[in-house]
Amino acid sequence: MPDRTLDLDAIRSEFPLLERRVHEQPLIYLDNAATTPRPRPVLDAVAGFETNFTANVHRAVHELSAEATDAYEGARKAVATFINASRHEEIVWTRGTTEAINLFANSWGGSNLSEGDEILLTVMEHHANIVPWQLLQERLGLVLNVVPVADDGTIGLDAFLEHMTDRTKLAAVTWTSNVLGTINDVAAICSAARERGITTLLDAAQAVPHGPVDVQAIGCDAIAFSGHKMYGPTGIGCLWARHELLESMPPWQGGGDMIEKVTFERTTYNDVPWKFEAGTPNISGAIGLGAATTWLRSLGMDAVSAHEQHLLLHALKLLRGMDRVRIIGDAPHRAAVVSFLVDGIHPHDLGTFLDRHGVAIRTGHHCAWPLMDRFGVPATARISMGLYNTTEELDEFADRLVRVIDVFG
Ligand code: PLP
Repeated sequence: MPDRTLDLDAIRSEFPLLERRVHEQPLIYLDNAATTPRPRPVLDAVAGFETNFTANVHRAVHELSAEATDAYEGARKAVATFINASRHEEIVWTRGTTEAINLFANSWGGSNLSEGDEILLTVMEHHANIVPWQLLQERLGLVLNVVPVADDGTIGLDAFLEHMTDRTKLAAVTWTSNVLGTINDVAAICSAARERGITTLLDAAQAVPHGPVDVQAIGCDAIAFSGHKMYGPTGIGCLWARHELLESMPPWQGGGDMIEKVTFERTTYNDVPWKFEAGTPNISGAIGLGAATTWLRSLGMDAVSAHEQHLLLHALKLLRGMDRVRIIGDAPHRAAVVSFLVDGIHPHDLGTFLDRHGVAIRTGHHCAWPLMDRFGVPATARISMGLYNTTEELDEFADRLVRVIDVFG
């Protein structure tokens, strides 16, 4: 089958990292769920700020500061357009998904939850969407109500409904599992939550880079995502939340930029979203993330999704055809992420040997310890595809995997 509508040669030529050789082999990078390589438009945008108009934002009257502020706020608009936010003030810059969830937990959670209130989570959450709630649980005496995962790695809507009670105040759910690839039916979950007056926060770290995202159509209250998993820089990400919700939330960190006026008697706060952005922000990161979303839009997120589904089917076919390989999870609706085990070989050994063959995969618990426990495994090997990967690379990966398995005998 052809690689759909993406011009893969042109796309691949945008990534300097793909020219690298690793252990004298051409690099095959299959660890995109951990972080993606950065394409030239992103590198150029970051270098443009760092080289040509380095200045702090929102603070000075001089030309460089005006240019930096325009680029920085322009990036916010680009990200808002990318996820179809109704206004760009709904985008709050954070360091990434983890910080976005911590912001929401501290600000919204800290001011809306009290003892005995329940937060609905799932077994497939990343630690970033577990530990902030546990910290709040300790502080406020909350109950974490965890929805189980079925053997095939899915969670039916019924399971979510069964776990929504009169005390449930928040459903904090991963959109797409970073381990199983499972894509949860977030529109249905949000609709059920809304009917019951439950606020919804989606961990969209593994969803936003891989297909069209329309926060208004999904009907959620908030989502969190990271720049570095969507071809942008590290150290930048977003909390998106409905404007009224952000308006109702107190600031969570104090300092410069988040204030309107400061006196020792009384301090008043800036408007949304700046009231959540204390201190000098990651300006180059924001500009780089804005460039990443503009670049992704130019490719077309439907085309990205179609290509990645094609890669997923190819990878599943290859792995299913191998003796001793067991794939964890079999969700019908899933992203291009595959966790697997090879009978008799520890995932870390697999990862290390594949690295010697130039193939970068991830091994370990993937920051999803409860999910590992659920499937009774300490770790898995995981391949995760990006929009620039090819079926030829997957064939090479499979060849090299077979060679590694043969070495272990
Ligand atoms: N949530 C999911 C589903 C993830 O896959 C990750 C990272 O792997 C995170 C949250 C945390 O992202 P970050 O480390 O960029 O904050």
